[in-house]
Amino acid sequence: MQPGFLTENKTRVAHERLNEEYGIQEIKGYSDPMHELIGTILSHRTTHANEITAYRTMRERFPTWEQVRDAPLPALTDAIQAANYPEIKAPYIQNLLTHLFRETGAANIDFIGNLSTDDAMSWLISLPGIGLKTATILLLFTFHKPVLPVDTHVHRVTQRLGLIGPKVSAEKAHTLLLAHLPKDALVLFNFHKHFYWHGQRVCTWYYPKCNDCVLQNLCDFYQSGRTTLLSSTPVRKKPMNP
Ligand code: SF4
Repeated sequence: MQPGFLTENKTRVAHERLNEEYGIQEIKGYSDPMHELIGTILSHRTTHANEITAYRTMRERFPTWEQVRDAPLPALTDAIQAANYPEIKAPYIQNLLTHLFRETGAANIDFIGNLSTDDAMSWLISLPGIGLKTATILLLFTFHKPVLPVDTHVHRVTQRLGLIGPKVSAEKAHTLLLAHLPKDALVLFNFHKHFYWHGQRVCTWYYPKCNDCVLQNLCDFYQSGRTTLLSSTPVRKKPMNP
């Protein structure tokens, strides 16, 4: 990875190129913060369509959050089975709801909008089952706070480009990348979306389409010639960790 000012410049240039490639997006999240919170748990290792199906089925069978909290575990697991790992997600959801009711008296997190970004982040990651990625998605998508979700695609593409070092974790990448970007929710939303899409569509894990990539001349991974090694790289199976 380059010294700080070079990395900052490369981050800005890569961001501008992807803005041109994919176009500026408006922030679109769920308008209901509780939907976003529970939806992010359901969304792990799951397509958006299946997340929606799982959420809808759960709310049809258990219309109130008290009913979701108190549902027999097998029944809740069955209701969210459209999402992957329902047997892990169901207890996470019930633990979270139990905690919310106990600490705040309700399953309502609208008050987060009135907290500072740091306070909102601290409160969210103190909740059971809520990690940095879920917290940043909720804060950016729903409350428009200036944070940067780093999922597997954002992590991989920024690492290959050399915007972060090869051993930097996704959690650490959040802080490092944020230091090179304006503290503006719309800018950060577009950075997240564009790097996410680029990782899904172009800079894929196995066969990155480097010849179609608008970031090619910025990319450490491409310059090193390591892309040719990827076809023999074994599939990584990561443990479920909402
Ligand atoms: S040049 Fe290849 S490895 Fe680099 S960002 Fe583009 S697709 Fe990914």
